[in-house]
Amino acid sequence: MIPILMYHQIGEPNPRGTPYRGLTVHPRDFRRQMGWLRLLGYRGLSMARLMPYLRGEKQGKVFGITFDDGYQNVLDHAVPVLEACGFHATNYFVVRQLGGSNLWDQAEGVPTAPLMSAQGLRDWLAAGHEVGSHTLNHPVLPRLSPELAANEIRDSRDALEQLAGAPVRAFCYPYGKYTAALAACAREAGYETATTTARGLARPQDDLFGLPRVAVMRSTLLVRFLQKCLTQLEDRKRRQAEMGGA
Ligand SMILES: [Zn+2]
Repeated sequence: MIPILMYHQIGEPNPRGTPYRGLTVHPRDFRRQMGWLRLLGYRGLSMARLMPYLRGEKQGKVFGITFDDGYQNVLDHAVPVLEACGFHATNYFVVRQLGGSNLWDQAEGVPTAPLMSAQGLRDWLAAGHEVGSHTLNHPVLPRLSPELAANEIRDSRDALEQLAGAPVRAFCYPYGKYTAALAACAREAGYETATTTARGLARPQDDLFGLPRVAVMRSTLLVRFLQKCLTQLEDRKRRQAEMGGA
């Protein structure tokens, strides 16, 4: 069972009552979370480095670290912590908002936060981390025509490969929304994994284009964090939900 952590922003949280405030984890909490996993003998890996474990070719005390959207504050606050721990992470970038902000959240009243520029992306890469794709525009993919959705998936990979000068193998569905056809499209576009917002630990026999993650929120207490990552409680809940739905 492999936890793949899902983070968004690492920074000072917005004022109380702000929508999606929970998606910003305090740098101090992030440092503690990584520090504890390291103390317990776990290694934090990017999606690319996690592949042999997800495929069941390797076993070990590992977990995945992912960040959605490519926030500048992740470069500022998470990179030094990851470096100190010797961990690697994947950030999923939105190509047409490089150097921009999370415009797609504005209708919800979420405060804008700056996203890494192309240079920031290269700094992220140079720090040893992985560049993943989160589409061109962060749309709800199942709402687009199949052609437009395919463009979002394919063209974002091409553009990021150009910018990074390296292969882009990790994809993340905006809002976690996808269909079997979109998963097939991601596979055909050349990605090796696609993550969702489904909760749970990944298992080696999981579909690599529908991977669940462990959401880490501002309010996630350390004990709960470790529970989510290291116990099989979450997985048992997930199995029960699956069986209940079958
Ligand atoms: Zn997103």
